[in-house]
Amino acid sequence: MGVMPYKARFLSLLAGGVLLATTAACGSGAAQTAAAPGGAAGDKPTVVAAFYPLQWLTEQIAGQDVTVQTLTAPGVEPHDLELTPQQVAGVGGATMTVYIKGLQPAVDEAVEQNGADKGFDAAAVVQTLPAHAEEEPEGGEAAHEHEHEVSYDPHLWLDPSRFAGVATKLGERLAEADPAHAQAYKERAAKTVAALGALDQEFTKGLATCSTRSIVTAHEAFGYLANRYKLKQVGISIDPEAEPSPARVAEVAKVAKAEKVTTIFTEALVSTKVAEVLATEVGAKTAVLDPMESQPSGGDYLSAMRGNLTTLRTALGCTA
Ligand SMILES: [Zn+2]
Repeated sequence: MGVMPYKARFLSLLAGGVLLATTAACGSGAAQTAAAPGGAAGDKPTVVAAFYPLQWLTEQIAGQDVTVQTLTAPGVEPHDLELTPQQVAGVGGATMTVYIKGLQPAVDEAVEQNGADKGFDAAAVVQTLPAHAEEEPEGGEAAHEHEHEVSYDPHLWLDPSRFAGVATKLGERLAEADPAHAQAYKERAAKTVAALGALDQEFTKGLATCSTRSIVTAHEAFGYLANRYKLKQVGISIDPEAEPSPARVAEVAKVAKAEKVTTIFTEALVSTKVAEVLATEVGAKTAVLDPMESQPSGGDYLSAMRGNLTTLRTALGCTA
């Protein structure tokens, strides 16, 4: 990575005739190319992935045919991510940027400014769910104002069946962008769809019979998972970086008691303080449920999701 400047990479793609149509429609892209020095032929396309689950998905489908870069480093909470000028330039020079509009405003902006036709918005290719079922009564408004830029919940990767829908579309887009490897993209996309389908079945079976179906989570990341497997999510906060109001914490405590919740879920990148206080108050334990917003410390998307399933089954008292 990083041997060739982005402009050169972009040019080499153009030399291959891959993006001619796209660039003709995009004035600034054409100007950039004209100014760039000659690029080496045969360089791979570069695809920028906004954060971990999209990186994983892109890598599965791209295989060896694409250089995949990620904007969110491991261990970094992706909401409110800020981009370096180099990263913005990287978005401009990439063949494609895979992102979810509404999750990371800085990424949305970089894509908009650098040719939206090169953006692959995962939220645009599957059916989305409304932002949050229950409005937080009093919240730090500044903290989650960005959450209201889009009306849907961006955490769609936590439903494997929806994520499989993204995989198919991403395979098609890669095939269009790099026709020489079209067949390979489509085959790898189909394989990824099958792996996600198997995961989806495990969740459906594993969560079929449980003594409670309410999950109290650190932030409202699990709406799609809850929707798919008929669970009820109660998020302590909407934005992982915002402190929930005392009124919200009291409300969650009330629901947790009424629903006989045994476990308050925390996540690695969010402070566990509020969750621990809440757990003590309602006589519950805490356990980590990974919203997969950053690369898991071990394994990958599939294994971390299976870890989540095990955690959920224990917490919800699921049998069979
Ligand atoms: Zn989130």
